[in-house]
Amino acid sequence: MKHLDAIIIGTGQAGPSLAARFSAAGKAVAIIERHKFGGTCVNTGCIPTKTMVASAYAAHVARRGAEFGFSVNGDICMDMRRVKARKDAISGRSNKGVEEGLRTLENCTVVQGHARFQSPRTVVVNKEVFEADKIYINVGGRASVPEMPGIHDVPFLTNSSMMEVDFLPEHLVVVGGSYVGLEFAQMYRRFGSEVTIVEKGPALIGREDEDISQAVREIIEAEGIRVRLNAKCISLAKHEGGVAVRTQCVEGEPDVSGSHVLLAVGRTPNTSDLDLDRAGVATDKYGYILVDDQLQTNVPGIWALGDCNGRGAFTHTSYNDYEIVADNLFSADHRRVSDRIQAYALYIDPPLGRCGMTESEIRSSGRRALLAKYAMSRVSRAYEKGETQGLIKVCVDAETKQILGAAILGTGGDEIIHVLLDMMYAKAPYTVIQRAMHIHPTVAEYLPTVMAKLEPFT
Ligand SMILES: Cc1cc2nc3c(=O)[nH]c(=O)nc-3n(C[C@H](O)[C@H](O)[C@H](O)COP(=O)(O)OP(=O)(O)OC[C@H]3O[C@@H](n4cnc5c(N)ncnc54)[C@H](O)[C@@H]3O)c2cc1C
Repeated sequence: MKHLDAIIIGTGQAGPSLAARFSAAGKAVAIIERHKFGGTCVNTGCIPTKTMVASAYAAHVARRGAEFGFSVNGDICMDMRRVKARKDAISGRSNKGVEEGLRTLENCTVVQGHARFQSPRTVVVNKEVFEADKIYINVGGRASVPEMPGIHDVPFLTNSSMMEVDFLPEHLVVVGGSYVGLEFAQMYRRFGSEVTIVEKGPALIGREDEDISQAVREIIEAEGIRVRLNAKCISLAKHEGGVAVRTQCVEGEPDVSGSHVLLAVGRTPNTSDLDLDRAGVATDKYGYILVDDQLQTNVPGIWALGDCNGRGAFTHTSYNDYEIVADNLFSADHRRVSDRIQAYALYIDPPLGRCGMTESEIRSSGRRALLAKYAMSRVSRAYEKGETQGLIKVCVDAETKQILGAAILGTGGDEIIHVLLDMMYAKAPYTVIQRAMHIHPTVAEYLPTVMAKLEPFT
């Protein structure tokens, strides 16, 4: 048995940084990875998809050449092998960087294999037993594959298998109209596929406000993506030349036939094959590990970080989990999950940046609030770039004047949202923005103008 100060299971967005912190403190740590170093974000999530979104954006702008004053001889044709090769190179660099970074850490043992608990203090990998007083679980999640009728009869793609696709599907049917599904839908449409989104709910990205969801729908429909909502009873079946997705839709034709189908219907935590019961670690009914505000599980000495604790589903939430755990341990800085403010982006083009509460959450909370909306078509920088779709929306507390939540759907929205997010962390009133001088021409220079439009909720 090997005795250590700490064991980390998984090399996602929290584990490697935590290993580095243990190493720097002169503590003996083992980090265990069963598949690819860097986990989802590096290999099958953020990095490869944003690389592909960039290829799709370049093709889209090239097709609009005439608007910008240039012509391209011949059609814009994608070479999907080169798109994949670019994606593999960029993602591979990060994967390699994570592995090399870990292997060169002092006091750190890197173990490749599947980890399982043997007891609250021991973990087994490749029949070798590791023991530590502190164990950190960073095992992430995978694409959910629900037991829908026909699922075992037809081939289907997930975000992971999409990474191996080096051809252009003739007609990609995306089941699931949320963040992952929308990003793949738009990029493949821009690559040249026909694309249909089948969503069981009444709206795309159903957790967003209706106006934001509707604006996103308009953006993607304008590019020729078909959207089928209210697909209550989705099933799959073989079809000549591909797959039929039966929907029983209230809206549109009931069946959609495509050459390929991508399932983007949520994530499942990788916790069912960890033998958590041997350690006594509790999960909820979906398999997410239950943690307290400092990410400790019900078993003292075992923590869960990242997607597997159900407290966030993003790279930045996983990394923030690392910061919370490490600062509590090494800096006696009492950080908590409840201190963080919700923030994320949807990387369609133009992107949606989001922070804090939605308008509908604020309305249901019953608090007095002010609301302002501003169309991107009124923003001069958007005009200059020829990217005028979307809107800015800000909600503030009527009494404290602090920002409660915001959405920026439009060019640069994923970056500009941080102006508002940082104001929220500073707990500053929105009037500070009104007195700030912003740079021209930017989207952010309109934020004071947006604030001037704040009016009580009606
Ligand atoms: C298509 C897609 C796009 C995304 N885009 C974004 C984005 O733009 N921005 C963003 O913030 N987030 C994005 N995400 C989410 C983001 O990828 C995850 O939230 C992020 O990777 C955090 O993961 P994690 O740290 O929890 O673990 P993961 O990155 O999932 O890593 C977990 C690791 O643990 C390993 N593991 C699991 N079980 C065991 C075991 N028993 N033994 C040993 N090792 C094990 C796995 O092999 C894996 O390497 C995207 C996700 C997807 C699917």
